[in-house]
Amino acid sequence: MVVTVDQIREGGLSLDETLSESFLTHALADVKDTGFRPDGPALLRVKLQKTASGVLLRGSTEVTVHSPCRRCLSDVHLTVPVSFTLNLVSRAALTDVEDEDGGDDEQAERAGSFDLERADEELFDGKSIDLDPLVREQVLLALPMHAVCREDCKGLCGSCGKNLNEGECGCARSQVDPRLAALKNIKLN
Ligand SMILES: [Zn+2]
Ligand SMILES: [Zn+2]
Repeated sequence: MVVTVDQIREGGLSLDETLSESFLTHALADVKDTGFRPDGPALLRVKLQKTASGVLLRGSTEVTVHSPCRRCLSDVHLTVPVSFTLNLVSRAALTDVEDEDGGDDEQAERAGSFDLERADEELFDGKSIDLDPLVREQVLLALPMHAVCREDCKGLCGSCGKNLNEGECGCARSQVDPRLAALKNIKLN
């Protein structure tokens, strides 16, 4: 979705946008396959406010995704909160500030109480903002590295492939580290 700076009024512009399942699928798989897939669409809430140098963009959504457990491959569902603040700086404004020097303090004040210095900066053309690539990147940043069904997931047996969370398979564990062999007879419940 593209928003033009002209659409942003004095009090800011609030938008609710549905992130379709296909948008999220592409976000999660296109550049690099994260292994995650969306469970469905998500609602993105964004607020845009003009600043002296461009636009302050705040957004939040919750994306529900699934992925095979990294150890046992069972399906893991998780809800990933995505929340971001981006300071979109117009390339033109950037040049102005360098040329004029001074007057910066007044401009900074007009940006409100928010500390712009601490928001991630992105450059844009000063006229329109394409939210899609920005949102895609923020969704990727919010994802965990990988999913596990539970912290103590035992994974699959290397010999027969049985899910060891469901019980022992009886295979000889030739790959057991000898240092751990002594633990083999302890019953885990
Ligand atoms: Zn697992
Ligand atoms: Zn086995």
